[in-house]
Amino acid sequence: MPHDYSPRTGVLQEQTWPAMRDAHWPVALLPFGATEPHNTHLPYGTDTILGSEVAARVAAACNARGTNVVALPAVPFGVNTTQLDLPFTINLMPSTQLAVLRDVVRSLEPHGVRGLVLLNAHGGNELRALVRELQPSTPIMLAIVNWWQAADQSTFEQAGDHAGELETAAVMHVAPHLVVPDRAQWGDGRSNPSTLEGVRKGVAWMPRRWTQATVDTGVGDPRAATAENGATFMEQAVERISAFCCELAVADPARLWASQAP
Ligand SMILES: [Zn+2]
Repeated sequence: MPHDYSPRTGVLQEQTWPAMRDAHWPVALLPFGATEPHNTHLPYGTDTILGSEVAARVAAACNARGTNVVALPAVPFGVNTTQLDLPFTINLMPSTQLAVLRDVVRSLEPHGVRGLVLLNAHGGNELRALVRELQPSTPIMLAIVNWWQAADQSTFEQAGDHAGELETAAVMHVAPHLVVPDRAQWGDGRSNPSTLEGVRKGVAWMPRRWTQATVDTGVGDPRAATAENGATFMEQAVERISAFCCELAVADPARLWASQAP
């Protein structure tokens, strides 16, 4: 997002010690990105860039409503075990991701954070198992948001998956200078189905070997993407995620489920 080069409210990397020390920050956002090819037209950092931007906007929206939400720096690497034959894909094993998250959670525990939202921007990051493992040992309420699923995808012809229309539109909105301008150079994001019927029918799941499953590393046709659709989608996602963060800031961990909403 173009901004005026003053520190963005709630973005930890841009804050001073007194700003953090002298306020209460009940909710933190931890974006989970990735470093991997995104078709032929988007940058390796797409997921990290989008996760960081959504986190910053959510923090701004919450702070404007009077709830202090801090956006932590993004984890720039994701789980990419099936893309390691693509140059400069950097993989973080799920077990490493768990160790990173455990250390972040422990670092936040003494400082009044009540809820930590894992703001995921990469499909290979399956964070639920991490949260299931860590939640019993921390008082911080842990939640996961896959940002690309947080808004209405029906504005897209085909939202697509990896570097598809949704993700392309979002980068066109947030960082247009990083999108290859000549659309003739964009791959069509065609992907190959599994040769196993059980996988095609959804009976079984197997990780996709990216160089077998894709042609241009993309999954989903990006060519209908527009910056306007990206803006609309991201604004709605930010609104919904912000509303959740404000809820979480005052939630009672002993009463997250009840027969009637309070
Ligand atoms: Zn991506």
